[in-house]
Amino acid sequence: MSARLPDDPSHLPETLCAQGLGRIAAPYRDIVPPIHMASTYVRDHDGQLSGGRLYARDASPAYDQPEALLCALEEGQDALLFSSGTAAACAVFQTLRPGEKLVVPKIMYWGLRKWVRRFAAELGLVLVEYQNDDLDSLAQALAGQPPRLVWIETPANPTWELTDIAAASALAHAHGAYVAVDSTVATPVHTRPLNLGADIVMHSATKYLNGHSDLVAGALVTRENSPLWQQIRESRGMRGAILGPFEAWLLLRGMRTLHPRVRIASASAQAIAEFLAAHPGVEAVHYPGLPSDPAHAVARRQMENGFGGMLSFRVKGGAAAARRVAGKLRIFKEATSLGSVESLVEHRAPVEGPETTCPDDLLRLSIGIEAREDLIADLTQALAQSA
Ligand code: PLP
Repeated sequence: MSARLPDDPSHLPETLCAQGLGRIAAPYRDIVPPIHMASTYVRDHDGQLSGGRLYARDASPAYDQPEALLCALEEGQDALLFSSGTAAACAVFQTLRPGEKLVVPKIMYWGLRKWVRRFAAELGLVLVEYQNDDLDSLAQALAGQPPRLVWIETPANPTWELTDIAAASALAHAHGAYVAVDSTVATPVHTRPLNLGADIVMHSATKYLNGHSDLVAGALVTRENSPLWQQIRESRGMRGAILGPFEAWLLLRGMRTLHPRVRIASASAQAIAEFLAAHPGVEAVHYPGLPSDPAHAVARRQMENGFGGMLSFRVKGGAAAARRVAGKLRIFKEATSLGSVESLVEHRAPVEGPETTCPDDLLRLSIGIEAREDLIADLTQALAQSA
């Protein structure tokens, strides 16, 4: 495993991001790295690989800088990029063997929940669910057959429950399980799960890490070179769920502005959550930054620099009223996904289908970096017209 320490560990994350680690490549001393497109690497006359690479499916130089930056941001030992967040998560789940026990939260990104349920049934896994924000429920899920892996998603899409990573990891480790955290929504700006005891952190890099809705990518970072990590590293090469070099380059470019983007989105999300909480047309607001939110106490311990750019609210008048509000918004674009510079709205339950745990009057907002006043004015006019 290559050394993944930042080039100068004394630098703060904002500096590491802005400079993309600040590596200046010979011979031209480019301020941004070149895009390494090669799929294969030429041997020396004596058959050696003095460039250190064999084939791009195993380890492309295109990944070196974004993976090293991710390691630095998450304070991990090694990182791997994948072709999507889903591919990254599946690489963790696919380390399980028939009969092993997998513990997952009740609220998690619906696409992964759907996949995990099908995969568990097909492979013959013992799949046990726990209530995201209830450690007693997790303790019950861990009891009995020793678990191999505990999955955490915090804040959890789309109602933003938090799981106390430190407490949950201690519990899971006491039962001999690995802990993996989907930290897509928190980003390393708000939470660093490996420092709280998790073994692996996962990101849909499609979202905040890239931040511009122009690529699909995933990432894993590990706290140590565990047997689980070795399995995952090998599986990326063997299954081939790799990212293209241009996407890896775009991802590094996106990460250079991670800190200002996420901080602006979080500050706006806080203001918008407070505005919505006081609006007569709104039934409820889900946002960990609101002191009234059940997740607030854990959020204050576990998140820094704000509480994230994602929030949801329930519209008075039910599903039809929620649909009308979504249709009246003009600056918020109605589209799936999250974590980009432009604000998005989604009427979530119809997208998730019959198995959804999401109320049918819920609108999910991904707050971008537009002027906060414009976003609030857009919500004001949409709610007024839909009353
Ligand atoms: N995890 C979370 C929290 C997500 O919101 C998503 C996608 O929406 C994923 C994982 C899956 O990521 P991707 O779409 O990059 O496969």
